[in-house]
Amino acid sequence: MQKVLLLDKDNKPINICSWKRALVLIMKGKATNARLLNDIENMIKIDNILIPRVIKLTYKLAVPYKELPFCRENILVRDEFVCQYCGKKFPPDKLTLDHVFPKSRLGPDIWENIVACCEECNQKKADRTPKEAKMKLLRRPYRPKDYFSFELKKYPYEIIKFWSEFFEAS
Ligand SMILES: [Zn+2]
Repeated sequence: MQKVLLLDKDNKPINICSWKRALVLIMKGKATNARLLNDIENMIKIDNILIPRVIKLTYKLAVPYKELPFCRENILVRDEFVCQYCGKKFPPDKLTLDHVFPKSRLGPDIWENIVACCEECNQKKADRTPKEAKMKLLRRPYRPKDYFSFELKKYPYEIIKFWSEFFEAS
């Protein structure tokens, strides 16, 4: 899967698109190579066509604010598939969602009250608060702020490593 990072006119990352979409944007004159050097490391080679790994829009675009969906997948991504009590990493199907303040005591379904939790810790904690169960949370659960940086967490390092310089700047 070959992906291209899309920057706005001010070099701020705004999206990740397929190489096909990138090619269309370039051919229509809506985007250009974001880097000055056309070296091969910075390009994706598809057949005989070279497509830049990072492109930038040639026009100003107002990016609408996007609310991150509150769902199981996004909670697991936020917590990096790490049980927030024992600190071990698990495959997604081995993780449950824990209500920090128990659901049975009307703990709400919100970002700030739900964490990734392994089956063992979930059973151990049961219907208690972390304090009652004497189990410490690795960190306070939070609502992720920036939609785009969050989406990036879903991509493997092999893909995003080519773009790192643009994230530091943003
Ligand atoms: Zn655990």
